[in-house]
Order: sequence, then structure tokens, then C-alpha cells
Amino acid sequence: MPALHDVVAALDEELRTREIPDYGGAVNGLQLANRGRVDGVAVAVDFSRAAIAGAIAEGASLLVVHHGMFWPGVQPIVGPAYERLRLLLDHDVAVYASHLPLDAHPMLGNNVRLAAELGLVPNAGFARYKTIDVGVTGEADVDTATLAERARAFASTWGGELRTTPIAPGRRTRRWAICTGAGASSDTLREASERGIDTLVVGEGPHHTAVEAVERDVVVVYAGHYATETLGVRALGAWLEARFGTGWAFVGEPTGL
Ligand SMILES: [Zn+2]
Repeated sequence: MPALHDVVAALDEELRTREIPDYGGAVNGLQLANRGRVDGVAVAVDFSRAAIAGAIAEGASLLVVHHGMFWPGVQPIVGPAYERLRLLLDHDVAVYASHLPLDAHPMLGNNVRLAAELGLVPNAGFARYKTIDVGVTGEADVDTATLAERARAFASTWGGELRTTPIAPGRRTRRWAICTGAGASSDTLREASERGIDTLVVGEGPHHTAVEAVERDVVVVYAGHYATETLGVRALGAWLEARFGTGWAFVGEPTGL
């Protein structure tokens, strides 16, 4: 049974947790300790009571999530927040979170994994954030509607529904980019436009991005925030098993978004 300390050190090193910048609420790394041993791992997209219950049901002592405990910001530990913490402490479950480090990882990352799911091969980074590229880009020659259908099949596997901006009949995707999660923004659309990207695959984005996309002649494929971020935590679960021999389970809790 590996020590929590060793598992955390290996995760921090592999994910470059201390080097990769992120948003304030991400708090990447170990977010809650346990008594010090890891005898099973559960992975989930979102930190939630359902994820904790799933981890406990699986007998896990480490819960690895993409969206961690502190997304809602500073709040009193009362009500649902108290219930979550009480469950974790009662069952000795530690929590490790990895947001942008997991999005951007070259092998385990949500973005490279989604590219593979869609039959695309990246050749560069995309979606600059401070010192890193969160997403990926590459070249292809595929019917855009066909690519969207691949994304639709993927999204439906995870309880999501695909949306796209209008796709003209016969349109082809020659340069694409992927940014999972909340990947559509004025910034990513501007970057897509500047780099000659014709198709942008994301999890979700605000309504105005669909308007901007048409004017920039970029098709945006919204494949679901949840669906597009199931890939990294599952890859990380398998990586932990290979490294430490700890069994792992994915706790699925689709948000529908
Ligand atoms: Zn996300």
C-alpha cells in the first residue's frame, strides 16, 4: 500500500503541478490529506458529494478530480460543504485536484486524449494561458459534418448533447484546434482566426462565441464540458495503477453540460 506522500510526489512531478499556472480556485495538488496510505483510487471530473460517495463505495482512499474542492471560492463549511468534508474525514479519503496541468499534459491530458478520440493528430499547442498552451491544434482533411458526428457519438457516451455553429454542406476541416471544458471564448476564437483554424472543438462556451464564430468563419463544435473532461482523470487513474499498483475506478456523474 503506497504512502500518500509518495503518490502525491509522483503526481506533482508528472503533472508539473508547481510549474503550471492556473486560475485561483484550482488549487492544484493535494487538497485534503488522509491518515497517510493509498489503498485504492477513485477519479471523477467534479468534486461533489456523489463523487465522494462513489469513492467510498469503491473503497478508495484517494479521490482525484479535475475540478477541485475550492472552485466555488471561500465559503463557510456548513450545509453541503460540511457534509462533503465530514464524509471525507469519516472515511479517511484524501483529495487531489489537477486542472490545467491535466488539461495540458502531453500524454494524459484532456486535450490530447480528445484529439485521439476524434481521430486527430496534434502538431502544436493552442489556447495560450500565461506560460502554457492549454489545448492542441493540427491539420486534417475531413468533412466537418463527419468530424461533428464523431464528436456527437463521443458526447452521448458521457450523457452530453453536441451543439455546433452552422456547418455549410461540403465544408471541410483542414486546420482544427481543441480546448476542452469552457474552451470557447473571444480569446480562443481570435487565436483560431489568427492561426487559420477553421474548426474549434470545445466543451462549452458562452452564447456570444457562436455569434463571433460565424463572423470569423470558424465552426465551433461544443461537445460538452463534462464529456470532454472525462478523459484526463481516467488516464490518470490508469497511470496511477501502472505506477503504484493501486486499483482505480471512475465515478461517473454526468452534469448534462
Ligand atoms: Zn473544466
